[in-house]
Amino acid sequence: MVKENTVKDFIDNREKYSNSDFYSELKDKNEKYQFMRDIVEGDENKGSLKNIPFLVKDAICVEDTTTSAGSKVLENYRPLFNATVVERLEDSGARFYGKTHMDEFGFGTFSTNCAFETPKNPHDSERVVGGSSGGAGAVVAAVDYPLISIGESTGGSITNPAAYNGVVGVTPTYGRVSRNGLVDYANSLDKIGVLAKTVYGTAKGLEIIAGEDEKDQTTSSKPVPPYSELEQKNNLKIGVPKQMSELEGLQDGVKENFENSLELMNENGFEIEYFDEPMFSAEVVLPAYYILAMAEASTNLAKFSGMRYGYEKNPEKFNDFNEYFSEVRSESFGEEAKRRILLGTYIRKAGYRDKYYVKAAKVRTKLINAFEQAFEEYDIIICPSMPNIAPKIEEAESLRPEEVYAMDSLTVGPNLAGIPQLSIPNGLSNGMPTGLQLLAPHFGEKELFNTGYSFEKLKAEHW
Ligand code: GLN
Repeated sequence: MVKENTVKDFIDNREKYSNSDFYSELKDKNEKYQFMRDIVEGDENKGSLKNIPFLVKDAICVEDTTTSAGSKVLENYRPLFNATVVERLEDSGARFYGKTHMDEFGFGTFSTNCAFETPKNPHDSERVVGGSSGGAGAVVAAVDYPLISIGESTGGSITNPAAYNGVVGVTPTYGRVSRNGLVDYANSLDKIGVLAKTVYGTAKGLEIIAGEDEKDQTTSSKPVPPYSELEQKNNLKIGVPKQMSELEGLQDGVKENFENSLELMNENGFEIEYFDEPMFSAEVVLPAYYILAMAEASTNLAKFSGMRYGYEKNPEKFNDFNEYFSEVRSESFGEEAKRRILLGTYIRKAGYRDKYYVKAAKVRTKLINAFEQAFEEYDIIICPSMPNIAPKIEEAESLRPEEVYAMDSLTVGPNLAGIPQLSIPNGLSNGMPTGLQLLAPHFGEKELFNTGYSFEKLKAEHW
């Protein structure tokens, strides 16, 4: 049960807890206080999400609430409907609390590509929160309160902020959770998932939002197991791909924490084995991911032209529509979005299609096969979540695009393969959180949560 003084303190000192505003939209302070009081007075019921607050990444539609996807082009968009995940959370008794900041349309690794505020890391306000679901990760870390934070990952946007903010994040199998009501980044890659303080919190959240939805034909009809009935399991065979655990640029502190955790697991019944898989190397996964993601993103952004969707200007002031569209798009898209429109369009151009897009799609199929083969040998695959701790904002902003993209080396592979991922806090380095990433076969979420839960317990006992 949440104590009232904690709640009041949080509401009154929201600035102190958050360093900056993670929230792109939050209701009136007093109204919220009332809402928090309701939670305090509500029943505690572990079997449902009754009165648990939930927050939603700004790319997910909430009725009558600004849903900008971090972009100026959608700054006035207030959907007339709730995304399926929002509907399911509300039906389970959870209460909508606010939207969280993100990189524009999900294009980024640090939430520094947001058209609005840049959220700051609750562990160190000079550092980034990660991206693109940066606000979603930071709010879980900043608030001493059990909440469900809904994020979305295309190429790592849940694992990344979970690791940088020291919280748990689950990215489900592609098709496990409905994308109805999500502002798309890349449709063949997008997955809605959950960030929370514990493995239990993420398991509970996923259990509620997962499952078939007639409004999203890519959702699976497989039944959703009771993820939150967690069981400790230490007798599993764990594979550690060398291409991921010995990645170039892996910071010493991250490596040390990772190796210590392997040792801890090994001492407690897990069988740990290193293996080689060239398909998991950064040189393979990064180009394949960025080609496919940019090609799909540039297609999705075509509709934001100020005609039917998005930011508008007075058309009478322009000579023709091309001039009007250009003006609207140059004014309302950020630099990274423009870069992706240009590169994505180029990749899809006749003549280049086979060279880039088709080739990347073939690499993706091979990667899926490589993961399937690895899972014949291992129950779970693990690697560090991110190669580094959250960089300083200034440092992050001075990186070249290809340096930023390289930070995604450990997350884009599993995302391309559409397999489930769980990022768990794995100790500090330089005072900042690091993360451990667990991977399971398609629809292996139950095993993933159980393994994560066992690791969480081991960590708590041996901290
Ligand atoms: N950083 C990656 C990108 O910019 C992943 C972002 C995401 O998962 N939304 O594409």
